[in-house]
Amino acid sequence: MTPASPLAQPQPDIRRERGQREVFCGLTGIVWLHRKMPDAFFLVVGSRTCAHLLQSAAGVMIFAEPRFATAIIEERDLAGMADLDAELDRVVTRLLDRRPDVRVLFLVGSCPSEVIKLDLPRAARRLGADRPGVNILSYSGSGIETTFTEGEDACLAALVPEAPQGAAGAAPELLIVGALPDIVEDQFARLFADMGIDRVRFFPGRVAHDLPAVGPATRFLLAQPFLGDTARALATRGAERLAAPFPFGAEGTTAWAEAAANAFGVDPMRFRQAVAPGRERAKRAIARHAERLAGQTIFFMPDSQLEVPLARFLAAECGMRPVEVCTPYLHARHLAEELALLPPGTPLTEGQDVEAQLDRVRALRPDITVCGLGLANPLEAEGLTTKWAIELVFTPVHGFDQAGDLAELFTRPLRRRDVLRV
Ligand code: SF4
Repeated sequence: MTPASPLAQPQPDIRRERGQREVFCGLTGIVWLHRKMPDAFFLVVGSRTCAHLLQSAAGVMIFAEPRFATAIIEERDLAGMADLDAELDRVVTRLLDRRPDVRVLFLVGSCPSEVIKLDLPRAARRLGADRPGVNILSYSGSGIETTFTEGEDACLAALVPEAPQGAAGAAPELLIVGALPDIVEDQFARLFADMGIDRVRFFPGRVAHDLPAVGPATRFLLAQPFLGDTARALATRGAERLAAPFPFGAEGTTAWAEAAANAFGVDPMRFRQAVAPGRERAKRAIARHAERLAGQTIFFMPDSQLEVPLARFLAAECGMRPVEVCTPYLHARHLAEELALLPPGTPLTEGQDVEAQLDRVRALRPDITVCGLGLANPLEAEGLTTKWAIELVFTPVHGFDQAGDLAELFTRPLRRRDVLRV
């Protein structure tokens, strides 16, 4: 697939809504980030609500030693009766004394810490000065500042300044940006090796403190559409973003890999040979589900920022009809290639006014509504079929070998509905 030039396309009409939101906060990202970076620890400075959210989102902690925790801000802290800096120092000191394996500690801000204006970046600098072997960083996962997937963006953006500066004259290196399950990372590494690109790094990698050098020789491909701040931080180092659709489905993954092939001067024949087996596997796997999905309508409520690429995949490769695609934030430049590939006239909405969006869902009665957990049950009770947006982030869905699983995530609720109707 050759993505249409975004410059040649008319700019789509985008409805912008500001109102009540029904989205998880950025703390949720810790659930997948702590698995990706086993030498990192995430200390949320928050309330009991934050601790409950993390515990229920992460489920049972399966590690002998946990990799995240919540330092609870008590009522007397909120009332300004305690020296929070001293308490935080005490908690961090105790944690790091007990856990010498932690090499990167993230202090994660929350709504309460934002409200009382706890200066976590300053605390991180202060604490880091006393602990030379541990990199202490901070970012915000607060629901005031971030939605669901923006926590990952804030975390990775905080990591970028820690990466060594790459030299201007260095050999070009490809950087894949966005937390991917290890199995997907391995598949992409093999794909790029088959294409002849051997200087490839992943960000974040499996070892949080081993960061790739970033500089003018860095060419980066975003694996996720919600990494605006991270991309900006990389660009300030001189790194160049390779414009591409996102690696969802046979076509999306081909176009994504092709952007790297073009940037690294890969011979077109070698590129085609490298992608052909995976692309064919993906097409066959998708075809099994496309039969059920073709002609079905889908409405995306704004949640993960994956909405536009997924709508493109479902329309282009599965024959679905997106009747409205809402996204919390629409990064026009990063999504330009995706927007150009959406069916013309697809209604797009940025932001949320939940009641107005629910009214439109009820009026359109789509075959599938992709939404957050809080909205799914009420909509199911009204006879609508739903898909939890959070599953799309927790399940490996990138690349050729996950393309069939991605399509299946959408056939499953339809099959469940068929069974219930019988
Ligand atoms: S950060 Fe805010 S929205 Fe998230 S769990 Fe804590 S209080 Fe709730």
